[in-house]
Amino acid sequence: MSRLNRILSQAARTGMREQVAYQQIYSGVEAPPGNFQRMPASLGERALQCPICGVASDKFLPFGLGGRPNAQCPNCGSLERHRIFWLYLSDRTDFLRRPCKLLHTAPESCLEARLLARHGSDYVTTDRYNRRVSIEADLKALPFVDSAFDVLLSSHVLEHIEDDGAAIHELSRVLRPGGKAVIMVPYDPDNPTYSNPVLTTPAERMVAYGHPYHYRIYGYDLLDRLAGAGLATRVWSTNELFSSAQRRRYRLNANYLLACDKR
Ligand SMILES: [Zn+2]
Repeated sequence: MSRLNRILSQAARTGMREQVAYQQIYSGVEAPPGNFQRMPASLGERALQCPICGVASDKFLPFGLGGRPNAQCPNCGSLERHRIFWLYLSDRTDFLRRPCKLLHTAPESCLEARLLARHGSDYVTTDRYNRRVSIEADLKALPFVDSAFDVLLSSHVLEHIEDDGAAIHELSRVLRPGGKAVIMVPYDPDNPTYSNPVLTTPAERMVAYGHPYHYRIYGYDLLDRLAGAGLATRVWSTNELFSSAQRRRYRLNANYLLACDKR
């Protein structure tokens, strides 16, 4: 089990505060998974491949509290949702190819290095508990002027914030009119957002939402809330974005990505 999963599992058992858990997570460096067999080119058709670091392998590593098989790239550590996010940025946007000012919330290490290499000081990262980001800040009160960024990247962050309305307002505020946001959250397109304020302990939230520090599983009403904050949003499913061959080769799961335009 990875260090991250060990800490989250312990959090659900012991009721550890989120800040304590994430400071532990960010204070250590997760060893690169390493220890994998590169596939010979002749076996390419059967190989799994990470679209972020490019490595091909006959298998990926298990990940998650239940040990999800073939989930984590053995080279860069990417998970399914990181690969979906990266492929969307590469194939469906020009954010990786043109100069732009980007804000990335809680940056994933496998994406961060590549975005920094492309955008340098135009790439700004923020997090509440990770001291390695550009600016430690609360998403509900961002230390940026209005319209500071062209692009906002936020994957699996909003569900960690109790007052997510304030965070959505701030994210929209710092994005310029005509700017774009790419957002991923636990999302169910067929139901309204599921959240129960009675559930407060990490153990209860683990059972209800599948994570000790989540506050909800988003549903279709999120789109109206984003629109209310000035973000016109299109939902993409991985089935719409990628062929079955891509989903198999890159190990992409059934998931959703929200593409937002700031009015
Ligand atoms: Zn990789």
